[in-house]
Parts: sequence; C-alpha cells; structure tokens
Amino acid sequence: DERIISSHLSAEDEPVEFSLRPKYLDDYIGQTRVKDNLKVYIEAARMRGDSLDHVLLYGPPGLGKTTLSHIIANEMGVQVRATSGPAIERPGDLAAILTNLEQGDLLFIDEIHRLNRSVEEVLYPAMEDFALDIVIGKGPSARSVRLDLPPFTLVGATTRAGSLSSPLRDRFGVVSRLEYYTQEQLTLIVMRAADLMRVAIREDGAEEIACRARGTPRVANRLLKRVRDFVQVKAEGVITAETARDALDRIQVDKLGLDEVDHKLLRSIMEHFRGGPVGLETIAATIGEEAHTVEDVYEPYLMQTGLLQRTPRGRMVTPRCYQHFGVEMPK
Ligand code: ADP
Repeated sequence: DERIISSHLSAEDEPVEFSLRPKYLDDYIGQTRVKDNLKVYIEAARMRGDSLDHVLLYGPPGLGKTTLSHIIANEMGVQVRATSGPAIERPGDLAAILTNLEQGDLLFIDEIHRLNRSVEEVLYPAMEDFALDIVIGKGPSARSVRLDLPPFTLVGATTRAGSLSSPLRDRFGVVSRLEYYTQEQLTLIVMRAADLMRVAIREDGAEEIACRARGTPRVANRLLKRVRDFVQVKAEGVITAETARDALDRIQVDKLGLDEVDHKLLRSIMEHFRGGPVGLETIAATIGEEAHTVEDVYEPYLMQTGLLQRTPRGRMVTPRCYQHFGVEMPK
C-alpha cells in the first residue's frame, strides 16, 4: 500500500533503509530482552566454535527483523544469504540455496510462513541434521540419497507466528518476538538516522516525529525523510518541534500517527453507526477496502492505540476515540 504511515517496505525505503541499518547489537536500539538473549546465545556459540541455533523472529513489519538478522551475522562473523518464503517456489529452489551455503553462513528467510509444504519438508532435515534428502529416479526404482550440508544458521522472519506450521516452528531453538518501540526509543532512532543522513535536528523535533511513527522504526525513518524535504525548502534546514509539526500536518499524519484512511474509518463508525458495534464487512465497504485488509492493515494499530475495540458483536470505537477527534459521545 501507498500510505506514508504503512509499515510495509516500499521501493522508496530501500536505498535509505540499507544505509540506516545498525550493524551491531550495540547500535540496535530497544528490544532489550531479545538483544540480551541473543548476546548470550551468540557468545556461547562462538565459544564452542559452533554455528548459532536457528532463530525465529516474529512481529509486525518494520520493527527490525531483517536488520537483526544481519546483525546476528556480523556478530557471528559470517555471511548472510537472504531470500523469502514466496521467492522459493519449488523444493529444488531451496535445495539449490542450501547446497550453495558455506560453513557457518546465515540463511535469512523473510515471510517464512509463506513457504509451501513441499519446500518446508526439504527444510526439516536441513535444519535438524544439516542434510538434504534427494530422490533419484521415479516409481518403484526411486531411491533417496542423503547429502551433507555445512552447518548453517537459519533465521526466519514472520509477521504471524501463528500461521507457521508447528513442525517448522519446533525446529527453531530461539524464538523471539519483537515489540512495538516506545517513544523514547523511537526518538533515539530518529536522532541516529538524522545524524547518518546529515540532517540538523533538535531533540524536540525528533520527539514530534517519534510520537507519530506508530511504534515502528520504518515509519519513523520515512516520516523523517518527508519532514527533511519540507524543512530543507521552507525552514532553513533545521528540524524542530515546530517545523516537524508543520510538515507532518501537511502530509496529514496526526498526533497519534493516524492518516486520512484511519480518520475515515473511525469517523464513519462514529457518524453513521453511533460508535458501533458494526460488522467488519460494513466498515470495509464504507472505506472501499477488502475486509482482510482492514483487519490486517488498518485495525491492529487502531486497537493498539485504544481507539477501536473488537467485540463479539462487531467493532466499536472507544471513549478515547471521541476524545481524539473532539467529538461528543452519544448517550
Ligand atoms: P522488518 O524486517 O521487521 O520489516 P527492518 O529490519 O527492515 O524491519 O527495519 C526497518 C528499518 O528500521 C531499518 O532499515 C532500520 O533502519 C530501522 N530499524 C529497525 N530496527 C531498528 C533499531 N532497533 N534501531 C535502529 N533502527 C532500526
């Protein structure tokens, strides 16, 4: 989707994201528990001279899963091979990737929940025994040959741990969930990114961007880029609370990081359905989106901020939502 506040990777992010990625655990802000655990596992694996156990990272898009996989490789001093679930169509594609791995390599599979079943089955012995079972021939004369693979570390990333099959999930030694970032952490991320982008910023400017970034570093970095463009042209190049607010208002991202589509969704529930409950399909129709898009893309953040609730009878806006819009609640 094209929304500025979307947490999905867009083409405009890619070159910038690459240059903004922290390279070592110490530069990776937040996610303290995940980091502390990884430090121990990495240290232990290095002391034993082993490859690291397979790691599953899960959590919403833009929270730093890809970044963390590269950091793990840097900390282990190994190479990364990166691919994604949908890119591996047939078992042979995965076999080719696996046989090209070198000792200790880190194989990163993004969206690992989207691997198909037949590909997954190749992965099981690879993860468990560093082995690849190949079937030679067809019919009654077919036989299976086992090839050894070099020890490697699989890092899988997924936005939905729930949609991973359990045999696959069980083969990960480390399972870590990434959390939304706090405003303080996002402020640090924005300050750091501004520094790397050589943009002059004051802390109050970074805070202003952070509080609208929906808990997500990718969104924070994208907002920073947009604000920079405005400020360069209009305000002598320094991002302050005031210039940031001005720019963010112009691109229509409000104080909670909501954009026009969020507004339309919430307002329609307040104005046409007395605050709800109202069915998902109805909401989807009022904003012209598919129900599953509303459910996966729009609702999670609205619920996380406490503006929207899911109830057995449908969706309802909360008193906080009325407050945010300055609208009086119906009796
Ligand atoms: P995901 O793989 O979860 O979708 P990414 O790893 O691609 O997310 O992160 C998106 C961007 O956000 C990265 O390019 C990076 O610049 C930034 N980022 C993510 N996590 C952090 C962090 N903990 N500290 C600093 N920057 C981060």
